[in-house]
Amino acid sequence: MNATQQMARAERMDRMSEIRDRAIETLALIAIEEEYEKACTKYPLWPEDPVHAAGIVTEEAGELIQAALDHTYHDLNHHDGDTLKRMEKEAIQTVAMALRFLVNLSKYRKFDKRENNNG
Ligand SMILES: [Mg+2]
Repeated sequence: MNATQQMARAERMDRMSEIRDRAIETLALIAIEEEYEKACTKYPLWPEDPVHAAGIVTEEAGELIQAALDHTYHDLNHHDGDTLKRMEKEAIQTVAMALRFLVNLSKYRKFDKRENNNG
């Protein structure tokens, strides 16, 4: 293989890598959209209190870090299952809940601490 052929091959490999990366990105976005729709159908109510809404996002992020810890320190993994699959699932759920948080941004209300004061 001469230098020109090597350069052409390297360019083809770069294009293939870009196409593969784009395909992975597209599949991830589709999975996030599906998770978002599934969550909105299963749990149609979303908190008007942003602290509780952020808590839902954080709960999923917590599951993501647990899956990542189980993957990294596999000898200490007390959970069953494929850690790569768990990280994928929890990352999708985290982004879907962050999207839900953003979609509801205009509905969050400020809480007056005097509202529930009975004294
Ligand atoms: Mg989860």
